[in-house]
Amino acid sequence: MNPIQYTIVPKNPAAHLFEVTLTVAAPDPAGQRFMLPVWIPGSYMIREFARNIVTLQAFNAAGRKIAIEKVDKHAWQAAPHDGPITLRYEVYGWDMSVRAAHLDDTVGFFNGTSVFLAVEGQADAPCVVDIQAPQGAAYRNWRVATALPEARGTMRYSFGAYQAQNYDELIDHPVTLGEFALGSFSAHGVKHEIVISGRVVGLDMNRLAVDLKRVCEAQIALFEPRTKKAPVDRYVFMTVAVSDGYGGLEHRASTALICNRGDLPVVGRAEMTDGYRTYLGLCSHEYFHTWNVKRIKPAAFAPYDLSQENYTSLLWLFEGFTSYYDDLMLVRSGLISPSDYFSLVGKTIGGVLRSSGRLKQTVAESSFDAWVKYYRADENSPNAIVSYYQKGSLVALAFDLSIRAQTGNRKSLDDVMRLLWQRYGRDFYNGKLRGIEESDVEALFAEATGADLRKLFREGVHGTRDLPLDALFEPFGVALAPEPATNGTAGKPSLGARVRGGADCVLAVVHDGSAAQKAGLSAGDVLVAIDGLRVTGSNLDALLARYLPGAKVEVHAFRRDELRRTEVKLDAPEVTRYTLTASDGRGPGKQWRERWLKG
Ligand SMILES: [Zn+2]
Repeated sequence: MNPIQYTIVPKNPAAHLFEVTLTVAAPDPAGQRFMLPVWIPGSYMIREFARNIVTLQAFNAAGRKIAIEKVDKHAWQAAPHDGPITLRYEVYGWDMSVRAAHLDDTVGFFNGTSVFLAVEGQADAPCVVDIQAPQGAAYRNWRVATALPEARGTMRYSFGAYQAQNYDELIDHPVTLGEFALGSFSAHGVKHEIVISGRVVGLDMNRLAVDLKRVCEAQIALFEPRTKKAPVDRYVFMTVAVSDGYGGLEHRASTALICNRGDLPVVGRAEMTDGYRTYLGLCSHEYFHTWNVKRIKPAAFAPYDLSQENYTSLLWLFEGFTSYYDDLMLVRSGLISPSDYFSLVGKTIGGVLRSSGRLKQTVAESSFDAWVKYYRADENSPNAIVSYYQKGSLVALAFDLSIRAQTGNRKSLDDVMRLLWQRYGRDFYNGKLRGIEESDVEALFAEATGADLRKLFREGVHGTRDLPLDALFEPFGVALAPEPATNGTAGKPSLGARVRGGADCVLAVVHDGSAAQKAGLSAGDVLVAIDGLRVTGSNLDALLARYLPGAKVEVHAFRRDELRRTEVKLDAPEVTRYTLTASDGRGPGKQWRERWLKG
């Protein structure tokens, strides 16, 4: 099969325009169809990337125009003709996230799903992409970072030709263009690269390399304890550092990340800041996906259908379990202490138990509806949905503790992950291309561990009953207790609403059944006074700390431009996090706990 030839040029960084050409040697003589994905794998929302295609024209081999028309929101149809066809189109890129494409005079970034049209009927054809440098002296130090293999003659990190075996591989390798800091390390013999773009002062790349190596080696050893064989030949961590941003997207041999520049480690400062721990947790999360969702996949993603939603009820397994392991691997690799780990778990438990959506939606339903609910969260989401990330990670924790308790700590969730890997993941890109059916999950867990997990599946995955975490922690010598919100105002009563900070006190979320809701307050209302004293986004806690739970206060608030007055009977202090306390008591508790946290 002739390769499909793409070129991409950061043509006009000031206008944020890439120019892409695409040549098909043997198009459908009856009229070739082309389409752009409507979503990017890993981010379960219809994004309609084709809306950023500004102009598009088609030409024959002689350079004469061929008629081409739009047939729906993301597809084009060329008129019948003989011989090769070339498309030339412009793509607008002004999305500083990891999900789309961005171009300005400081950095370029793109996912193939935003810029490379698929050639209908030729998804299996090899692809060659010529990545060209922008014109002008200002760009002479720009380089290319991607895990896409270089074609012959192209040096690593340079502009030139890159290649992919098929369209699926082409779009699974994001590309960063620009000036960037570069680091590398070897994890169990495989080269891992670190690319940091954006302005970062005093970056401690050595520390980053040492720390990430530990996380990566721990994960490789988890899936392949005997051979320590990594799932890739090469891996690239690609980060754009910005003033305020957080996110990551997994790919088969790389990840695209965005973080606060302040989260990255600084030369000469050895402390583990919350920001750096968060960043390492994000790297750990995306790296874990190299196995869990990029190779071990739900059947619905094997293969992906990029023209519409791909429904699966298993995101709790692919995102939730990955969220469980991301921080667990930090403690197992010694980057954070067990007490730091417990504090992260306590925060997650608080996050889940705080919202009544958990009583209305199961994690399986949340997975299925991710496209219209989790990814399109609004002010009512905490009352209506449960996060398959947060609760999914607690479901993973519950499975892990339950399996360990039932098997005397001889089996664990690690055994489930390994069996999933052996059966579905290891050979996914070696022609096996099979995902796990939803109906096979429960049997696989039982096969891997011998534990009876039916109740957890029934109540934790397919039910809305709260997980029995107290009981599950007990054999591990861990006690769970609610920790009321503090920040200097311990025991303060609550409105039962989440507030957006700032000059105005805007209610972002009003929890079901809360004092605020009973008093008729709604998300979007701007509180202006409590008992006649002015309230802002920053002094609400201090004002409420003057009252006891159950006290009645007069609240003035604007809804749109109408002033309202209401009386609020204040709720008990809100529990936003839980404390996990490890005891050194007798019995197997301490030993079991250490085994769990050491892997
Ligand atoms: Zn994820």
